[in-house]
Amino acid sequence: MEVYISANAFWALLISAVEVYKRECFGILLGYRDSANIFIVEHAISYQTANRRHTSVERNGRASKRMHKFLANLPHLSLIGDFHSHTGWGDLRGVGAPSSEDVVSVASRNVRFL
Ligand SMILES: [Zn+2]
Repeated sequence: MEVYISANAFWALLISAVEVYKRECFGILLGYRDSANIFIVEHAISYQTANRRHTSVERNGRASKRMHKFLANLPHLSLIGDFHSHTGWGDLRGVGAPSSEDVVSVASRNVRFL
């Protein structure tokens, strides 16, 4: 799977992680899949209502449902994924590798890490 991230989405991802650092951030990725089957991430939207902790993050179920319903009414943008950060907490040093929970989560959605 190939993914391109727009400059705006990249900055939103970065600022989202920096803003809540020492706790994990969470958000959604909006965009589309082009004719070559490449994911184009146009926007990264941080979840303000996420329950942030030092070693995990959870979306707010009610807010998430409301967001999905709203986004379903926008024909030019699709929800193509989500994101979260890993912080430098305790023995963890902001590792970029997926955690075992991440691997299980994406495997259940038929997504692979490259
Ligand atoms: Zn993770």
